[in-house]
Amino acid sequence: MINYICNICGMIINDKNYEFNKEAFLYSNSLDNIRHCPFCGADSIYIKEISKGEENRVNLTIEELDEVTSVILDHAMKLEVFNGDFYKKASKLAKNEEIKKMFEALSNIEFMHAKIHKTLGGFKELPILKKMDYSKYEEDSILMDLANKREKHAVQYYNKYSQDVCSSKITEIFNILSDVEEDHIHLTLKK
Ligand SMILES: [Zn+2]
Repeated sequence: MINYICNICGMIINDKNYEFNKEAFLYSNSLDNIRHCPFCGADSIYIKEISKGEENRVNLTIEELDEVTSVILDHAMKLEVFNGDFYKKASKLAKNEEIKKMFEALSNIEFMHAKIHKTLGGFKELPILKKMDYSKYEEDSILMDLANKREKHAVQYYNKYSQDVCSSKITEIFNILSDVEEDHIHLTLKK
């Protein structure tokens, strides 16, 4: 298989990982059709072929961030960590095996989104959130409901702030991530 690089999260996609997190996607990747980045969910148009030995690094550094943008990115990072953490815990609480796996995959993707914001904002570390306990949510349907609300909130956040940031690159990334979360809204609708 040809190797690819995702221009959004910078991960290399190859024959060993193209199916990663497949439970978090509406359509699956195949060897000859990479529809999305398995790590951040970005659409195939942001994925490009790389040849052997080619320098493959994605530069997400934004030269000059203004204060407003920095705060927006900080909140976006926290939102994604909060959601990533929720999915991680929800995957342990869920009873249905399919839902469990989907939550696990969604957790990986949301944490990758947080890392993207960390890089964009030039932040040193991902935030440590106060310990959240979701164990009172005993039913899968309630967990799915909570998940769905979070995804809607994420889409709203990206759409609300995508025009307020100081860089067109960040606007573009917010739009891409908003589309990814939009798919998550569909995935977390009750089946
Ligand atoms: Zn990616």
